[in-house]
Amino acid sequence: MSDDPTPADDTRADGEDARVRYDQARYVEDGQYEPLLSEKDLTRVEVGEESPLPDDLTREDLELPELSEPELARHYTRLSQMTYGIDSGPYPLGSCTMKYNPKFTEDVAALPTAAVHPDRSPGTIQGTLELLYRLQDYLGRIGGMDAVTLQPPAGAAGEFVGIRVAAAYHEHNGEAHRDEVIIPESAHGTNFATAALGGYDVVSLPSDEDGRVDLEALEAALSENTAALMLTNPNTLGLFERDIEEIAELVHDVGGLLYYDGANLNALLGRARPGDMGFDVMHYNVHKTFATPHGGGGPGAGPVGVVEELAPFLPAPRVREVGGSDDADGERGEPTYELFDPDHTIGKVHGYQGNWLVLVKTFAYIARLGDVGLADASAMAVLNANYLASQIDYEIPYGPFHHEFVASAGEQDAAEVAKRMLDYGVHPPTTKWPEIVPEALMTEPTEVESKATLDRLAAAFDAVATEDADTLEAAPGRTTARRIDQTSAARNPRLSWQALEDD
Ligand SMILES: *Cc1c(COP(=O)(O)O)cnc(C)c1O
Repeated sequence: MSDDPTPADDTRADGEDARVRYDQARYVEDGQYEPLLSEKDLTRVEVGEESPLPDDLTREDLELPELSEPELARHYTRLSQMTYGIDSGPYPLGSCTMKYNPKFTEDVAALPTAAVHPDRSPGTIQGTLELLYRLQDYLGRIGGMDAVTLQPPAGAAGEFVGIRVAAAYHEHNGEAHRDEVIIPESAHGTNFATAALGGYDVVSLPSDEDGRVDLEALEAALSENTAALMLTNPNTLGLFERDIEEIAELVHDVGGLLYYDGANLNALLGRARPGDMGFDVMHYNVHKTFATPHGGGGPGAGPVGVVEELAPFLPAPRVREVGGSDDADGERGEPTYELFDPDHTIGKVHGYQGNWLVLVKTFAYIARLGDVGLADASAMAVLNANYLASQIDYEIPYGPFHHEFVASAGEQDAAEVAKRMLDYGVHPPTTKWPEIVPEALMTEPTEVESKATLDRLAAAFDAVATEDADTLEAAPGRTTARRIDQTSAARNPRLSWQALEDD
């Protein structure tokens, strides 16, 4: 994009109400509508009644769309062009970390040897178990945790497992009376949901004026009823909790546990470890840190790591290495891998070992990058966030930040800023959260973007920053669908296709 980021084909503000719902008729008119496969013309050239071929080669007609391969390829290519994805351009959603997923991890997961039936006996899937064992080990080392389960299928599911493990630990120690989980008010919504679903009362912790945990407020909140404090570090403002060691001491002094929400691990990767800061239990968002696809409700992974004291409560089964010790001649034997149930396990939280192919991608990514690569990724994530922040005109009230920052749209509506950014060909940041920044634009460019791309993002921010409310309200004008009624789409999904004329 050139220095002038004004959209070349800017047809927004022509008096039409831009808040239309996805309007099929309009897209047909614009030539932008892509019919469903089932709407495509099914007529085809007739071969004639009598087949000249023998009976075993005559086929019954199947009621399927008759499409040639290029027609099919064009259909899906057109659909993919109607939406914005990580392969279209930068995707700076703060907290959600839309990290680029390298294609080689897909290749690894597509290897025929990765297609293992999960019911096969452990003796016949030693390679699978070794990969899982090594991934448990890698994640444990990266987080500074002693034991890891790979089963939970998402970050939020990992949180829930972590909190259930903490509960089982307290119960085992005769401390079932602990019924409170403390959470900073700037935390991700899943933290509150996790604690509530885990059966705890949520104690909300205000931030101090520089956006970090308020130690006095924490001291006041802690008691013999504290089961855990859930924190992410750097926090959702991208700020490092400098007092983390003191925080850990305060929590441990009352017998509570410290939970690390690993969604912000990108800033620490290969540089600092939650375990060393005093955290007892954490989840990893592999789709935010280790370049696996976001589940979108589909298969993901949210492994959970714990310190030794909590390991007996992890979900069953886990994988362990056995043997491999020296034999009588001092020769090191081949280790083998087996499944085992931790002594006081909370039980099973997912089929088999979790979402195996997601875990294969996680493993491949860590193995390819190695220690230097992981530390580089985190350095670039922090550098890119800081560079982008230095280039945009919106105010950024809190700092210094790490891999993400929260700008304020000020007098503008952050959600409208987001819609308008789409017209400049970039994806907007996360908006309106955390609420401690008014009209928040929570931005995380990730480590993979070039300076040119960051400049293009900054140009889009700055162009929108100068625009008036009418312009923003009419946006987006250049996307296939404009403002979709997301609430109705979620609440009243249309699960079967209705042809246009039925509408
Ligand atoms: C994304 C996120 C979560 C939840 O993870 P999911 O995999 O989306 O369930 C929890 N905490 C923070 C800070 C996050 O950014």
